[in-house]
Amino acid sequence: MSEPLDPKKYRPESLMMSYGYRPELSEGSIKPPIFLTSTFVFKTAEEGKRFFEVAYGKSPKKADETLGLIYSRINNPDLEILEDRLAVWDQAEESAVFESGLAAISTVLLEFLKPGDAVLHSAPVYGGTHHFIHHVLRSLNITPIEFFANQTIEEVEKLIADHPEGSKIKLIYLETPANPTNDLIDLEAFAALAKRLGVVSVVDNTYLGPMWQQPLKHGIDLVVYSATKYLGGHSDLIAGSVSGSRELVTRVRVLRTFLGNMASPHTGWMLMRSLETLKARTDRQAATAGKLADFLVGHPKVEKVYYLGLLEKGDPHYEVFRRQCTSPGAMISFDIIRGEKAAFRFLNALKLVHLAVSLGSTESLASHPASMTHCDIPDDEKARMGISDKLVRLSVGVEDAGDLINDLKQALEAV
Ligand SMILES: *Cc1c(COP(=O)(O)O)cnc(C)c1O
Repeated sequence: MSEPLDPKKYRPESLMMSYGYRPELSEGSIKPPIFLTSTFVFKTAEEGKRFFEVAYGKSPKKADETLGLIYSRINNPDLEILEDRLAVWDQAEESAVFESGLAAISTVLLEFLKPGDAVLHSAPVYGGTHHFIHHVLRSLNITPIEFFANQTIEEVEKLIADHPEGSKIKLIYLETPANPTNDLIDLEAFAALAKRLGVVSVVDNTYLGPMWQQPLKHGIDLVVYSATKYLGGHSDLIAGSVSGSRELVTRVRVLRTFLGNMASPHTGWMLMRSLETLKARTDRQAATAGKLADFLVGHPKVEKVYYLGLLEKGDPHYEVFRRQCTSPGAMISFDIIRGEKAAFRFLNALKLVHLAVSLGSTESLASHPASMTHCDIPDDEKARMGISDKLVRLSVGVEDAGDLINDLKQALEAV
């Protein structure tokens, strides 16, 4: 039997083709099969009893024990291998995968928040997350306390002290860089705040991670992803994940068992295939984004470009960027001259770039946040977050950089 590779000795991209999988258990097949099965056969009744004890959290898993396979709502080989591989990217003890990013996010929030609690969260957050916190959690008597991504930690501490429910905070939820403005939140400062308050800290790392930002390294407890985006990377699946310590991820996984929102074996297999090229794809996407940002900055029809690679010394976000991000990533937003009409003319004139929401895929996408993803945020809040009618968001894909620049150029001419 082959010896498992030591994940500490290799870069994640070197492990994605083999880590966590033993071909000899699957007829020597070099790739894991898709285990399309609902249930698994126990060797003995005693074995079945032990598997349930561990799966239901009645008894902790021993150090050398692997979770036995029971039933595909609890686990499945495709999900187990995928979870081992996802954990490698964030150097996490464990990961758990879900059938969507929002399933991962909502399960984490439901596990760590109870009626009467409050949740501190940054704004803007993903629209679905905002709705879940402000409608679903509120209906369970959980109070949202919101701060803007461009506020300082001192301002946030004052906000908590002044808030009538401030002492009830049980979880801090962050999304950085903020979508679509790329405002950065200082993860170390908020991880320290969470420790002082004795609460769980969670970061939605969909925008930069896990290639370019690893919140666990900065003291954050749990990192969540919409794996639909860079991790999946081909606009052909919906999935989510959570990574962190064994203790916390186990709690989330137990709730997943009872909500039944785990990923399917097929989705798991698709994601494993995507992870093999994650580094190669996203290196190129980031390099191309840099070229597109340079082009946009000089263009007379572009007023302002929001791209992490343009941060300059003296900007309060610059030091945060240097400390916690290893690349500016591949998301660019920019203000086009005049407003919605001009932005729509630009979007309608694009030929190579597709007009669609979502991000992180092989094809480049463009959208208009104010009227699309962020349409139900009140106008005054949108203004405070810097989301105006002029703002256009680009997710840079793997196309040729010259072809993309030509497409932006001809579409800007139509403005
Ligand atoms: C897309 C997205 C989500 C939601 O993920 P789904 O996979 O669509 O459920 C959450 N957070 C961010 C930042 C996203 O971009």
